[in-house]
Amino acid sequence: MKLVPDDRTRGSRREGRRLFRLIAFSAVLVLLPTLASAETRGRSTLGEPGVRGGVVTTSEPAAAEAGAEILRQGGNAIDAASAVAFALNVVEPQSSGIGGGGFMMIHLARERETFVIDSRETTPAAGSPDMFLDSDGDPFDFSIRSTSGIGAGVPGMVRGIELAQENWGDLSFAEILQPAIELAEKGFRVSSRLEDSIAGALGTNGRLANEPGDPAYEEARAVFAPGGVGLVQNQLLIQPDLARTLRALADEGPDAFYSGPIAEAIVATQQNGRTTGVPAADQPLLQGRMTLQDLAGYSAAVRDPVEGDYRGFRIVSMPPPSSGGLTVIYILKALERFPIGDAEAGFGFGSTRTLNVMMEAMRLAFADRAVWMGDDDFVDVPARGLISDGYIATRSALIDPDSRQANVVADDPRPFDSAGLPPKVQLAATRENPDEGLNTTHFTIVDSDGNIVTYTNTIESGWGTGLMVPGWGFLLNNELTDFNRVPAFNPDPDNFNPGANDAAPGKRPRSSMSPTMVFKGGRPVAAYGSPGGSTIINSVVNTTLNLIDHERSVQEAIDAPRISQTSANFSPTFEAGFDLEVIQELIDLGHNLADSRLRVIGSVQAVVIGKGRTQFGGADRRRIGAVISLERSGSRGDKDDDD
Ligand code: GLU
Repeated sequence: MKLVPDDRTRGSRREGRRLFRLIAFSAVLVLLPTLASAETRGRSTLGEPGVRGGVVTTSEPAAAEAGAEILRQGGNAIDAASAVAFALNVVEPQSSGIGGGGFMMIHLARERETFVIDSRETTPAAGSPDMFLDSDGDPFDFSIRSTSGIGAGVPGMVRGIELAQENWGDLSFAEILQPAIELAEKGFRVSSRLEDSIAGALGTNGRLANEPGDPAYEEARAVFAPGGVGLVQNQLLIQPDLARTLRALADEGPDAFYSGPIAEAIVATQQNGRTTGVPAADQPLLQGRMTLQDLAGYSAAVRDPVEGDYRGFRIVSMPPPSSGGLTVIYILKALERFPIGDAEAGFGFGSTRTLNVMMEAMRLAFADRAVWMGDDDFVDVPARGLISDGYIATRSALIDPDSRQANVVADDPRPFDSAGLPPKVQLAATRENPDEGLNTTHFTIVDSDGNIVTYTNTIESGWGTGLMVPGWGFLLNNELTDFNRVPAFNPDPDNFNPGANDAAPGKRPRSSMSPTMVFKGGRPVAAYGSPGGSTIINSVVNTTLNLIDHERSVQEAIDAPRISQTSANFSPTFEAGFDLEVIQELIDLGHNLADSRLRVIGSVQAVVIGKGRTQFGGADRRRIGAVISLERSGSRGDKDDDD
């Protein structure tokens, strides 16, 4: 099977695979909140020293150890990331796994190339823009469509890892699966976070509480809440069904997922849907439409990132079908004319002016995101126009540091898009999806050669659909709920509305996932990303400002409280830790923060590369983030040192 499109010139590492390598690493495992090694070795702002043997940062300690073990065995960052992704399916099953998909951004140090493996789920061939509507033409509630087969997209993770690993990994597919197989077979101690997540999912409307007695929904309950009692911290969780699946992948290769008994079981599982509270006539509409042909036909894609400049740094981020990269770069560029880091100018971290301009830029960007962004394999996304200097200047000019725009609407970037279509007269913004999940996982790895992977992976909501494939032990995603629930396309040429994020056969739902790398002088200096639905974009923006404008260390940049607004006029949120007088001043300006819940926004895992190619990791205490820093006491066999 041909994995890399013909027009790709980037070289596969596979031919040059290194056979022997002498490696002697010693590992420092740092579990937060004891805090990361970076802190004990001095500050780790962009440009300061650290380790050089590789760093693994994940939201889950056992998965970090899986990645570090692969680095110790001589695997590179791509191998380690692949191992972490499979391990997370075992130890953080509520957030990501082989029943879902994601975006893996890769930087190859020797080739100086940066690209993304897109393993986003696709819509079955029988999908349609109106697939989430009931027989009256009204959308099924999120709680119904997201827990029925109709929400499940064709899973992409296994093909994505195959594509990355076959071409740019150093170890075999079977080798990178070993840590996950061991964790599933021998078991692991349930973490506090998994305990909390299980307990939450067993509550009212929780993913593990649906359709009591229905075998389709009992499967996951039997694993995580045997006898109806949720697992608690330190209990040993062994997952024999998942282990069997992972072993099948190791023995037979990735095709074992996309055809044969596992594929047949996936198709059968997504034919289940919710029945409680759903009229009998509507119940068939909730059955998934995925077929064996959809699974056999799934392919991951290699994509070029989107890029933009911010204060002398090059921001490289996730292109469509994610809205993430374009929206992150848009917000940063709209902020660039303000002295964000300068407290004397009334800005600085957490000041009224800084938080005001951040929210104003987010509002403008999210207004345009709602109209223009979707899967550009299917719709014209005016990507260049959206982040062009000219268009951003017109948008940023609307921001006043000392007031709030009364009403923000989308504008038309197409005149600034060299590949654009002629502008039309009116724009109708699609409604933001208020139901996007707040789960997912992000991890970042750098190896001793300086290869970097920053990878956001998801099954959409926590626990996905809640449908676990019987006998195979993995959860199916509900990613298709990221599409417009009601089709937005309007054929009236005077009421231009492209329906950029309407569902269509083969189409990928618009994502917010934003794996991001920052370059200076052509070299990577930071890599990070976050989970959190559309707040992902703002977690990445907050982290970027903290690193670049506020000159925080990587861990400080992660720890600092975040602010987020994910639509033109609604839904601002902020975390505890800001000065409440500042929040009151923002309320006085008109920001609707009085009703905003103090909440947790995102979970950022980051690596910073300092001078001399030294490496620092930071992980988020909002979950149970872990950093493993590897001290190099030997050297990788045929390492190219281009210093
Ligand atoms: N499905 C979401 C996206 O692709 C991710 C879910 C989440 O992070 O909660 O943007």
